[in-house]
Amino acid sequence: MFFGIEAGGTKFNCAVGHGTEIVEELRVPTTSPAETLGTCKAFFERAADRHGQPEGLGIATFGPIDLESGTIGATPKRGWPGTNIVAPFKSFGCPIAIETDVTGAAIGEANHGAGVGVDPVVYLTVGTGIGGGAIVGGRPLRGDPHPEMGHILISRRIDDVFEGTCPHHDSCLEGLACGPAISQRWGKPSHALGDDLDAAIDLEADYLAQGIAAIVAVLAPRRIIVGGGVMEVPGLLEATRERLFQKLNRYPGAAAHTDPASFLVPPGLGGRAGMVGALVMAAGSS
Ligand SMILES: [Zn+2]
Repeated sequence: MFFGIEAGGTKFNCAVGHGTEIVEELRVPTTSPAETLGTCKAFFERAADRHGQPEGLGIATFGPIDLESGTIGATPKRGWPGTNIVAPFKSFGCPIAIETDVTGAAIGEANHGAGVGVDPVVYLTVGTGIGGGAIVGGRPLRGDPHPEMGHILISRRIDDVFEGTCPHHDSCLEGLACGPAISQRWGKPSHALGDDLDAAIDLEADYLAQGIAAIVAVLAPRRIIVGGGVMEVPGLLEATRERLFQKLNRYPGAAAHTDPASFLVPPGLGGRAGMVGALVMAAGSS
């Protein structure tokens, strides 16, 4: 039996199981580190009483994160910078694997979802933030500390006067195209755009296609899986796909000889990619 944690900015999803077979799970609100991690640990202690000690534990977490130590970096989430999210779980005595939330989702999709048998494969989420994880040569792509695909610099469209949400960059993908950027630009959230729907999709698809084109140029993936709440806007995935292939203009690599509909795809695991990925990581760590 394995333990998995998908650690997000609003909630921690804890799961007990193996791959897609989840026997118990708990959703814990992200409040203070002590409260959230304490509730997660208590859940796993009860699970260990029922199912036995875990063979491994996987954590797919928000960042920035030092993947060697498990210490959270400079996040705006109050109380979390400097928190070690591995330490509370060392008492289980099992191997612990840790990756970013998006890399965890990429691992889940690569093993059980839309990325099975496809390598390199990228998972990109477009929601409260934008981030991406990649599996290259069967291994999660790391760096120092990890890729930040949401901060690819893109060109602001000349008619877009919204200043962006990123405190670091004037015009990065996340700053111009994340959920809060849509809400602030149009004065309404992505699921309620009303009369602005077509214009919003047109702009959003352009920005996403710019960012994805950069990912294609650098990683030459065979498939890109795009998830997150913003991608639930009807027609956005199709518009992004069309814009992406226009920009790539049949070059480079896979984009030239792959059917667009099988190159840019929705997640096979829906919103469960990260949790499944954490359980896959747990199994791989043991
Ligand atoms: Zn940025």
